[in-house]
Amino acid sequence: MKQSERLNKIPPYLFAEIDRKISEARAKGIDIISLGIGDPDTPTIPTVVTEMHVAIDDAKNHDYPPYNGTEQFRKASVNWMKKRFGVDLDVNTEMLANIGSKEAIAHVFFAFVDEGDYTLIPDPGYPVYKNATIFAGGTPYSMPLLAENNFLPDFEKIPEDIAKKSKLMFLNYPNNPTGASCDLEFFKKAVDFCKKYDILLCHDQAYCEMTYDGYIAPSVLEIEGAKDIAIEFFSHSKSYNMTGWRVGFVAGNASAIKALGTIKNNIDSGVFKAIQQAASKAYEAPQEQIDNLNKMYKERKDIMEAGLRELGWDIKPSKATFYLWLRVPNGYTSEEFATIMLEKAGIVVPPGNGYGAYGEGYFRIALTKDVETLKKALARMKEAGIRK
Ligand SMILES: *Cc1c(COP(=O)(O)O)cnc(C)c1O
Repeated sequence: MKQSERLNKIPPYLFAEIDRKISEARAKGIDIISLGIGDPDTPTIPTVVTEMHVAIDDAKNHDYPPYNGTEQFRKASVNWMKKRFGVDLDVNTEMLANIGSKEAIAHVFFAFVDEGDYTLIPDPGYPVYKNATIFAGGTPYSMPLLAENNFLPDFEKIPEDIAKKSKLMFLNYPNNPTGASCDLEFFKKAVDFCKKYDILLCHDQAYCEMTYDGYIAPSVLEIEGAKDIAIEFFSHSKSYNMTGWRVGFVAGNASAIKALGTIKNNIDSGVFKAIQQAASKAYEAPQEQIDNLNKMYKERKDIMEAGLRELGWDIKPSKATFYLWLRVPNGYTSEEFATIMLEKAGIVVPPGNGYGAYGEGYFRIALTKDVETLKKALARMKEAGIRK
């Protein structure tokens, strides 16, 4: 049996590789602390769980859902975009439910990218952007996210011929893996660039509610005229601790939403209606439920950053996400350092190059373990003599 060529063109999924290394280390009897995957370690917010108990008992929720999402979910999502960002959206044409944003992010490439087309993707970046480009037959062009540029791409550095051949650009702020954030001025530049070259601007907003120190993340759709070329992918996963529920939405440009909807109509059959009902309630959850999560991550972040400073790391505190993006010590590649962390300290960290060539020289820490575990990880690093 010979598998398709397209499967040979992508690297092994980063976390599949990490899972394999963990199993190997466990088999050798090493006690593992995984700071690897960005998956919240605490339960879904109570408002959502409570509503799910009601929703699942309602037989009206047991059949196939509408392809574009239930009216309740789309309306609740539109209302939230208005309340949170002041953005007006049409419930029927500018809002689409997705099965968690990873699904919709992967599928949007099939709606816009043909053989020979380019996509503009952040590097380092969420691996789906690159791999879905390849699956769709396109060529990913890396926009480097560099520390000296606060991990924002420099649109002026994109060669004109590449821009002309590009169909789609992805941005993601607050950013995975770098923890960087952006302001509206940056989004304005992105919108102007994409309008100039007739590129669909896709903004992945997975972390917009996970922010600290008074920072409030903007939506790209706040930019006047953004809806002419932009769509935004919101996910309940990180904001409401709902990674396992698989729900979110895409909002913005009506023809892009329609195109993505056509791909999806032919591939999936939507999100369980009870989940959409519970997800609709997430927007009404008392702000305290979200603030409590952010307080928890902030405490972890402060402890981890202080501990790493003691071990020689120079850390610029970030305003968002539960990631720390850190340089590996001099003389090591990302992979070599990740292996040392695993073998000497029993700590799993993804090597930065797993997120793209410009991630080489970095590693990522996800603050998805409790304070005790983070302290234990720091102690193990100290004991193993791991320093910047
Ligand atoms: C977690 C994550 C997603 C995926 O979220 P789901 O809605 O759970 O599929 C998308 N983009 C980025 C950058 C992420 O880190």
